[in-house]
Amino acid sequence: MNGSGFTRDGCSWIPEYLNFVDPGTCIGCGRCFKVCSREVMHLYGINDADQILGVCRGAEEDFDGELTRVIMAVDYPGRCIGCGACARVCPKNCQVHVRADLLLSEPDK
Ligand code: SF4
Ligand code: SF4
Repeated sequence: MNGSGFTRDGCSWIPEYLNFVDPGTCIGCGRCFKVCSREVMHLYGINDADQILGVCRGAEEDFDGELTRVIMAVDYPGRCIGCGACARVCPKNCQVHVRADLLLSEPDK
């Protein structure tokens, strides 16, 4: 198994899985979450010391006044099907994807 597959018309298709979101670049706009059908990532609240406060479930969530900003984090990478939709809508280019064939060829650590 090399991680590649085929489209319906028989063309080769290699998924590119979402691996990481750069927390220093992400503006927490939520666009990637909206286009993803797989719940791979979620918005997290961050305080002014850049500590993670928890999943931000709505605009009213302010973590008892500690919230400074929100960022997207990849918390369920195993759900990703590598469709690439999240990369196409990100305005900050802060996502890192990994090709399925390269991921599966990595030696066990
Ligand atoms: S590549 Fe597709 S399935 Fe994976 S996180 Fe992005 S939108 Fe979701
Ligand atoms: S689309 Fe990009 S900037 Fe917006 S929340 Fe997702 S990773 Fe962050």
